[in-house]
Amino acid sequence: MPLELNDIFVTPDSSLEVDGCYVYDDLSAEGEQLVVSPVRVKGQVRNTGGLVELGYTAEFTYSKPCDRCLAIAEKSVKYDFRHTLALSAENEDTDDIIIAAGYTLDLFSLVRDDILLELPVKHLCSDDCLGLCPICGQRLNEGSCGCVKKAIDPRMAVLDELMQD
Ligand SMILES: [Zn+2]
Ligand SMILES: [Zn+2]
Repeated sequence: MPLELNDIFVTPDSSLEVDGCYVYDDLSAEGEQLVVSPVRVKGQVRNTGGLVELGYTAEFTYSKPCDRCLAIAEKSVKYDFRHTLALSAENEDTDDIIIAAGYTLDLFSLVRDDILLELPVKHLCSDDCLGLCPICGQRLNEGSCGCVKKAIDPRMAVLDELMQD
């Protein structure tokens, strides 16, 4: 349901509380579910001397495979967002401005766009994730596999090849 902002736009120094819980069933990337909890949205639309701004926090849990060990790892995050709202894009630098056409704002879609942009590209199950064994593929967080890792010095590798000839 869009936010009705008629009163906010026409009344200087007015404000409107925003408090909602949104469920996105379709938020996925390459078939992986990204956002696995409802998104808790809390904030305020405020008219300050004619400038209408929306500020809110979005709290949710997302889930992605770890970049190093590929195990699915969940993370709970809380992000802050701030937008200036305008009724039309006339004479404005439109980059940071959200158009509330007809005094309404589709907050559901805006929150979706905001959190998709904010989700980190890099995702680790933990900062000290050990990743996969390059030889057998074992998840090293679950225990070592016993593979013997040769430290490969490129100069030694060349020597090795020469010796084999
Ligand atoms: Zn990991
Ligand atoms: Zn191994």
